[in-house]
Amino acid sequence: MIPKAKRAIKAKLLPWFAENKRSMPWRSKRTPYRVWISELMLQQTRVDQATPYFHRFMKRFPSLKSLATASQADVLKMWEGLGYYSRARNLHKAAQIIMEQHGGRFPKTAESMMKLPGVGSYTAAAIGSLAFNLDLAVLDGNVIRVLTRLFAYTNDTQSTKAKKELQKLADRLLISGDAGNFNEAMMELGATVCLPRNPACSECPLSRTCLGFQSGRPTDYPVRAPRKKIPHIIVGAAVVTNRKGEVLIAQRRAEDMLGGLWEFPGGKQEAGETIQQCIVRELREELGVNVRTGEFLITVKHAYSHFTMDMHTYFAKISSGRPRPIHCQDYRWVDISKLRTFPYSKADLYIITELERQLEKES
Ligand code: SF4
Repeated sequence: MIPKAKRAIKAKLLPWFAENKRSMPWRSKRTPYRVWISELMLQQTRVDQATPYFHRFMKRFPSLKSLATASQADVLKMWEGLGYYSRARNLHKAAQIIMEQHGGRFPKTAESMMKLPGVGSYTAAAIGSLAFNLDLAVLDGNVIRVLTRLFAYTNDTQSTKAKKELQKLADRLLISGDAGNFNEAMMELGATVCLPRNPACSECPLSRTCLGFQSGRPTDYPVRAPRKKIPHIIVGAAVVTNRKGEVLIAQRRAEDMLGGLWEFPGGKQEAGETIQQCIVRELREELGVNVRTGEFLITVKHAYSHFTMDMHTYFAKISSGRPRPIHCQDYRWVDISKLRTFPYSKADLYIITELERQLEKES
């Protein structure tokens, strides 16, 4: 089956890709730096959503050097809204390491790339194959879908065993000397034809070799064990204002989730607490101030990979104490018009949008 599939990939899939590939900004000028940034962005969002982020990022940091010498806050600001902020922090650190230890040149082997923070086997294979034409096969969600359908593969794809087996399969199918095209063609097929719910098998260049298609039930693949239910948490957050009309924001600690990003202070509701009591306690613990809560502003519903959250947000005023960073890295009083100069997570950006909307309504 593998030699037959390999022949079909060479004779059908690669020509199909040459004819049908979508135009993407990172495909035009292919440098290791551009491939690296685009691959990291594509690991967390779709092509159409990643494209404006990519343009913005490249405009602000056109070279590895400009990224390495930027502040972390600037890098997080350019990543704002993409999620998985540890990737942005690692990207920044890795750029500094490349400047300091590799003379500003991207390392050319998978082993040396994988020593950089945040570069795993997927990213190394993508950069290696696309920028240096190394024989490395990429295994992402799209490739996994195509492979499991092509071979009617029935193991749970979340398991380590399956990941290893599928990586081996991809390695064996790889067209040596043309790894970049092979990887991109597999990913493109998964993204545009071999779709999760409605695969367009009648238009697929691999349908004659596809066991999933021949079974008549291609969507039975990939097989995934049912997901465990993820926890749901309730959070209270405060928009604390002072007499000057400034707003208090806090910077999350580097070691915490969303580390380095700014937020409206608050935290997780504890058993038996009202949201207002939660906000009062959290502000005391985080910034050492006592607050009086006021009007309700917004409830932000947000889903992270490992939990979902309702964040109830209220206005508040300090009744005693001066802020100091206890359970946060830093804090600032900021004019509402300057709030967006700091980097935030998506959930806090919703709060800013609602604040701006209310201000506009009042003016
Ligand atoms: Fe996917 Fe259908 Fe093509 Fe098989 S024939 S690879 S299921 S699109």
